[in-house]
Amino acid sequence: MIRAWLSDERFVEAVEGVAPGDKGFRAWWIGQMGFVVRAGGRRFVMDPYLSDSLTRKYAGTDKPHVRMTQRVVDPGRLGRVDVVTASHGHTDHLDGETLRPMAEANPGMLLVCPEAIRPLAVERSGLPGDRVVGLDADGDGAVPSMFHGDGWSIHAVPAAHEGMDRDRDGRLLYLGFVVRCGGWCWYHAGDTVPWPGLAGRVAAHRPDVAFLPINGRRPERRVAGNLWGREAAAVAREAGVGMAIPGHFEMFEFNTETPDEFVSECARLGQPFRVLRAGEGWGASSALVEA
Ligand SMILES: [Zn+2]
Repeated sequence: MIRAWLSDERFVEAVEGVAPGDKGFRAWWIGQMGFVVRAGGRRFVMDPYLSDSLTRKYAGTDKPHVRMTQRVVDPGRLGRVDVVTASHGHTDHLDGETLRPMAEANPGMLLVCPEAIRPLAVERSGLPGDRVVGLDADGDGAVPSMFHGDGWSIHAVPAAHEGMDRDRDGRLLYLGFVVRCGGWCWYHAGDTVPWPGLAGRVAAHRPDVAFLPINGRRPERRVAGNLWGREAAAVAREAGVGMAIPGHFEMFEFNTETPDEFVSECARLGQPFRVLRAGEGWGASSALVEA
């Protein structure tokens, strides 16, 4: 088992250790595509998976989900959480055993997810329906692509995992989110493979930071795949993001890759990057791209 860089109380202390008036951007990797972000006085948690629900669900099957990295923190002890995002309905991104304790500790938190999975998100989180916000990337029809919170906004962009699949009403099942808060902008890709126009859609927002999956896709895993490390590096470079941070590796033994390819391709392209360990944080004090 890989030890978390910081875990439990020490992790919470690190997140709590940011001064309330801090104008910087801080992010911590909490494993898989899960990130905690502090910016503009708000606390965001994106795609948290902080339980062993999948390990238990698949125990004794032909697809065992053996955990590789120690859990970073008990979701009920994470402290204040303002906004949680879930990019799609797969349990490693929308986990009831993570969301329920988080919601119990934070009755006022909002959960933002694809409109297509909103009923599932309400059920798994236990949050009242009016605390769960559904978005669709196209934003035509009844479902908006943008939500404005108090001092922050979230804009949905499509994701293809591996198809750009829709529900019966034509709403996208997989999304990425661009968040703006406190003068910062960041892109959380969710789970996606490359698709034509992806980098362009991201570039339009000029994000300072991008969180991108790098576990690629191998048919023998029999799960929907994601960007390879080289592709994540290329998307970041093409989109002009200030800092690329990889995710979606070192959670399950059957579905992981090393970040080596991401690192070498970022270096080759001149793309600034930072590979975090689970439980490790990174921050910036001034904007990484010109507005
Ligand atoms: Zn996933």
